[in-house]
Amino acid sequence: MRCPYCKEQKDKVIDSRATEGGAVIRRRRQCLACNRRYTTYERIETTSKLLVVKKDGNRDPYAREKLLGGVQRACWKRPLGMEILEDLVDEVEEEVFKKFDREVPSSYLGQAVSVRLRRLDKVAYLRYASLYHEFQLVDDFIQEAQDILERDQQEITGQQDLFQQED
Ligand SMILES: [Zn+2]
Repeated sequence: MRCPYCKEQKDKVIDSRATEGGAVIRRRRQCLACNRRYTTYERIETTSKLLVVKKDGNRDPYAREKLLGGVQRACWKRPLGMEILEDLVDEVEEEVFKKFDREVPSSYLGQAVSVRLRRLDKVAYLRYASLYHEFQLVDDFIQEAQDILERDQQEITGQQDLFQQED
């Protein structure tokens, strides 16, 4: 591999990891010239031919960067590192490539991301769901929003108590 930083072609693999099911292998590499680290992915080629069927019926080739970009936007300023987001997309790909051969509905992708974001970070989940994927029921949205508001309120109240004690 060519180092993305110094362009040297000498590296060593410091970690190899197959995601569940083995559809993707992720390798952490270290450049022997500049010592910086970067990640490469190995995937089965046919997955790149997967088409995403949009709501209007148009089809787009599946693009990991696009999916990851959406996740990143939803996680903006949230305490989630890039590694976590890459892992999330790995998991989604894993599931999607296993289930669909040629076409996947965009709503399925949205759902697969939402379910995982929901476990990781409620705010990011809400952002994602409102931006990229319609809530199934308006009630879902209201319930989620209420839970978050209540939790934030508790946190703010907790912090106020803390400050008052310090005074
Ligand atoms: Zn380098």
